[in-house]
Amino acid sequence: MPPPEWVEISPDRWTQPFWDAAGEHRLLCARCEDCGLMRMPPGPFCPSCRSQDLDWVELSGRGTVFSWTVVHHPVMPDLAGSVPYGVALVELEGGQGVRLLGNLVGVDSDAVEAGMEVELEWADIRPGLSLPRFRPAGSQTI
Ligand code: ZN
Repeated sequence: MPPPEWVEISPDRWTQPFWDAAGEHRLLCARCEDCGLMRMPPGPFCPSCRSQDLDWVELSGRGTVFSWTVVHHPVMPDLAGSVPYGVALVELEGGQGVRLLGNLVGVDSDAVEAGMEVELEWADIRPGLSLPRFRPAGSQTI
């Protein structure tokens, strides 16, 4: 996990609900009110029908690994103690194929494979700011 002082977010009107819910350990996904397409990350226009009307759907946080990488090189000296670490692109259950990026924890990097079932847990950075990360489904939370 990065040092807390490194983590800054800049929510806008399209992403504020996501971050507000994340701070409460709830995963929200934007859904077009007109055509029902879910989208992550949320943005001002539906890529299918161009509507700007959206609502929010709470997802379970369960999903499957679509792709992943393992970071071995610390891009900053302060990360030297954190490598190697995994980052996964997870296809979310109930999300119509939307994917969410997050650190992968609780699994040896050699054991990760496409389609592996994972579940969301929240990394608390500071009060009101939490980041999504994933661990193998059914594994013990730290
Ligand atoms: Zn739409």
